[in-house]
Amino acid sequence: MNSDTDSYRLKGLRQQMVSDLKRKGVSDPQILAAFSTIPRHCFLDEAFAEWAYRDTAFPIGAGQTISQPSTVAQQTALLGVKKKDVILEVGTGSGYQACVLASMGAKVYTIERQEELFMRTSRLLTKIGFNHIRTLLGDGYQGAERFAPFDKILVTAACHMIPKKLISQLKDGGTMVIPVNDEVDNQKMMRIVKNGDRIEIKEHGHYKFVPMLSGIKATV
Ligand code: SAH
Repeated sequence: MNSDTDSYRLKGLRQQMVSDLKRKGVSDPQILAAFSTIPRHCFLDEAFAEWAYRDTAFPIGAGQTISQPSTVAQQTALLGVKKKDVILEVGTGSGYQACVLASMGAKVYTIERQEELFMRTSRLLTKIGFNHIRTLLGDGYQGAERFAPFDKILVTAACHMIPKKLISQLKDGGTMVIPVNDEVDNQKMMRIVKNGDRIEIKEHGHYKFVPMLSGIKATV
């Protein structure tokens, strides 16, 4: 991991990424500020540092990917993050999305099913000063009952259906953003607002995420 060096070159590439996101319609100043400050290259292997600032998904090991910057920005915008929101992220992966939410002032819990990624990312977050993010090892289909209810839930892996457990762990008036499989090989991004017993669902375009899988995968 390349967390110690934030060279002028990498800072320059990061500002280009922010300009690219603006061109693609990202306008929330808080989201843009998060992208300008978080050293995204720390979340990739050192050899691929420069790839961190291209608008593309990238492998992070354990068969998983760090989401594309514009997808992270769009999911964050749909969530409507406010300072002090208590947020559960499902699918910690590299930890980058969790850092975006935390740097916008949210209290973040993030859950990962693969022990290898959970361990690696927990260490990284401490190393780069995001030790206030609470990392959890578990099956995101079960949510994180101990810390519920949440103002917001952000799912970063593709589901076959909307998990009822996650809806039950949302506060009344809370929002969940989740990619749900459609009939072809990609997913519809859904923004769900919970109002008492009713949920309102709106669709926000098509995306491609790795699948959400059940159970924990222990390191062998
Ligand atoms: N948010 C991540 C990208 C996530 S990729 C980032 O910013 O890098 C999706 C992640 O979801 C993978 O790490 C995968 O292992 C994890 N995942 C898949 N199913 C899960 C489940 N049921 N519970 C928790 N994590 C899950």
